[in-house]
Amino acid sequence: MMHARQGFSLKHDPVAGSAPWLAPAVRGAIGIPQALFAYMYPGLWTTFFEALGYAVVASGPTTRQRIERAGLVSETEHCLPVKLLDAHLDALTGRVKRVFVPRILSTRRGFIACPKLGALPDAVRARFGDRFDVLTVDVDENKEPVRKTLGRLARRLGATAREGRRAADDAETAMRRTRFDGAVTPAESGKPYVLLGHPYNVLDPYLSGPVLHILERLGVPGVRMAFDSAPQPGGPLQWDSCALIYDALQALDPARYAGAIHLSSFSCGCDSIAEPFFRDAAQARGLPSMVLCLDEHASLTGLETRIEAFVDTVSGAAL
Ligand code: SF4
Repeated sequence: MMHARQGFSLKHDPVAGSAPWLAPAVRGAIGIPQALFAYMYPGLWTTFFEALGYAVVASGPTTRQRIERAGLVSETEHCLPVKLLDAHLDALTGRVKRVFVPRILSTRRGFIACPKLGALPDAVRARFGDRFDVLTVDVDENKEPVRKTLGRLARRLGATAREGRRAADDAETAMRRTRFDGAVTPAESGKPYVLLGHPYNVLDPYLSGPVLHILERLGVPGVRMAFDSAPQPGGPLQWDSCALIYDALQALDPARYAGAIHLSSFSCGCDSIAEPFFRDAAQARGLPSMVLCLDEHASLTGLETRIEAFVDTVSGAAL
């Protein structure tokens, strides 16, 4: 599925800056890899640093070449999203001296993040420490909302309290707008298939675009799940984005949606545990569902065959 960038994209680039009162970039440059946390907090980090006066250098979008590079520069046992982080960092080599890589411990209060995300700065220092200084901050919404985290980071970077507040305001506004653009309401041209998964799979246009493109070619609408809610406490899953996927599946009404397509990653430890819960949630709703597993070797032909078979089966059962 990684062969060509398809014609689907979000209205706002998840790492594009948009601070309306953009300060001159006087504090130096910061590289932001367009992977993982760029999609978990879309628009937030770039806007925040730009608002504080930094020149943000984005690694650029995911491309076929970058996915191929991911297979070369990263550890073989990593999942594709973590490999892609390494490839995006690799693409920043020679362009910046400092990169931002947060330690993500929780993105939703009451839930925890995938353990791999808690080790990111250490892994990046070990792999790229000879190329970059790694600026980091702990993101743990069980301890403080991300707004407070931004304030803490701003103070560490020497900003005044007022500068930190304004930068956090702009960053949160940018994130709300970008998250909203990622959510799509049901199409009027028939019951859509919903694309679910971790935000860095569903919101990266290069990874999810081909799925939506294939659905369009088959004459059925496809929509991405939204990431603007908090998961319900008391569910079976403690990982934040897995709990969001589970809740989204439980809320899907088969009268309004044709089916669910879970965009997962080869070697994803969290999904390997959560998948039976996803399947049960879909079955309990009477909603057809399938899993598509991504890695750097996935082919567009294989993807087409599987989606086509799924849509045929669902259409046949509905007759
Ligand atoms: S949740 Fe899965 S895909 Fe995401 S970083 Fe963890 S192992 Fe990788």
